[in-house]
Amino acid sequence: MLRSGKSELLIGFTISVLLTLFVNFPMLMRSYDHAVNMTNDKYMMAPPVLLHGYFFYFPLVWFFLFAFILFMVDVQMYKVGDKLLKLKEYKVVLFAGAVSFLVGLGLLTVAEDSGRVYPYSDQAGSVLDVLRFATDAAGVITRTGFEVEQLRRTKHGFAVSSAEETLAADRVIVCCGGMAGGKLGGTRSGYLLLQSMGHNMTKLYPALVQVKTDTTYVKALKGVRATGELTLCRGRDTVAESRGEVQFTEFGVSGPAVFDLSRSAAVEKPPLTLHIDLLPRLSAADTEALLRQRAALMPELTTENLLAGMLHNRLGRTLLRYAGFGLTEPVAALGAAERQRIAEAIHDFALPVTGVLGFDGAQVTAGGVRTDEFDPETLQSRLVPGLYAAGEVLDIDGDCGGYNLQWAWSSGHLAGQLRP
Ligand SMILES: Cc1cc2nc3c(=O)[nH]c(=O)nc-3n(C[C@H](O)[C@H](O)[C@H](O)COP(=O)(O)OP(=O)(O)OC[C@H]3O[C@@H](n4cnc5c(N)ncnc54)[C@H](O)[C@@H]3O)c2cc1C
Repeated sequence: MLRSGKSELLIGFTISVLLTLFVNFPMLMRSYDHAVNMTNDKYMMAPPVLLHGYFFYFPLVWFFLFAFILFMVDVQMYKVGDKLLKLKEYKVVLFAGAVSFLVGLGLLTVAEDSGRVYPYSDQAGSVLDVLRFATDAAGVITRTGFEVEQLRRTKHGFAVSSAEETLAADRVIVCCGGMAGGKLGGTRSGYLLLQSMGHNMTKLYPALVQVKTDTTYVKALKGVRATGELTLCRGRDTVAESRGEVQFTEFGVSGPAVFDLSRSAAVEKPPLTLHIDLLPRLSAADTEALLRQRAALMPELTTENLLAGMLHNRLGRTLLRYAGFGLTEPVAALGAAERQRIAEAIHDFALPVTGVLGFDGAQVTAGGVRTDEFDPETLQSRLVPGLYAAGEVLDIDGDCGGYNLQWAWSSGHLAGQLRP
């Protein structure tokens, strides 16, 4: 999400004051009473309880905590090249600003508990419609089916040419998107146009994309969904982490948690291994104890059903194969070492990564036209006055969760002001 420094501070301050008034002050009072009672009863618990109350009492603690969290959210959700982007450099509209802009154009919206905002109609076309009506009302001439093949500088501005026609323009905004989703219109076109104007590019990678893995075990899991904690490693080094839903496919793994680390899977040097913890809320020892209980309760079960009720049946059976077991052994015959091996497989289902699906299967392009060649206050080119760029064509990509669309809105809004 994009937020301004001012609103961040205001939100942080307001929340801190409210929390202090309605939560922490009564908590402090209760802590104090509790501490007094405890001390009277000669328990030594009083000092930590009081400390807890004092710590949370200070509005400043909350204030800095919130400001820090909001700052980290801003910075970490977007990447420029291999570096984190300090989005505050960009004078873009806020998340709330983008929503109220669209609402102001007539879009009815609905917000999920997660904070994501959708058109009430549940149709992406509704966003396009309200934008179209607004541009029509403002007298904007829209030309579709005009594929720009060439961009040239002229004495008075630019010449923008398709195969059939050339238009003259004072100023030009290149917002042709990226390479992702080739079948839906992803193209290299914007990069080529900006390169023809002297701009430079970073390397392009598909991101928010399926990760391909060794298929020995995942093939049988096609269509299975699970929730887990994912760690992408090179040897013992952690390269990226995520948690959430994983979907198994015939090539490897997909789903939101996989998308979140797919950029690293594409960009980082191989060999990489994806480790999936399929019961992250339990420790391996807890899981082993659970398996011991099950075996004691239902000794007549075979290994085929040992994990039934804990995990998706197909996933359970695959994990047993992965741990080196057949499906017909009686669970009563499993010793502690065997149960431990099964628990370890559940907590560390390790899949060697063989790459990522290509641009056609990706939702966004990592890499693009170099951002340092554009003024972050206006998005005007530092090399060619009158030339602007916005959206995915620039070397900015965000995590899964609407951040790429938000960047497209925000940067489009900024570039569209055509400020010198
Ligand atoms: C399948 C899929 C799902 C996605 N889901 C999400 C999501 O849930 N949340 C999220 O935040 N992001 C998502 N994204 C990414 C998001 O859609 C893009 O990052 C965003 O649309 C980029 O906006 P843009 O304006 O830069 O480019 P685009 O939206 O790609 O628009 C570029 C336009 O320029 C046109 N164009 C290209 N070249 C030329 C040319 N030479 N001449 C004339 N016109 C040209 C194209 O036809 C296109 O209409 C998804 C992407 C895909 C492919």
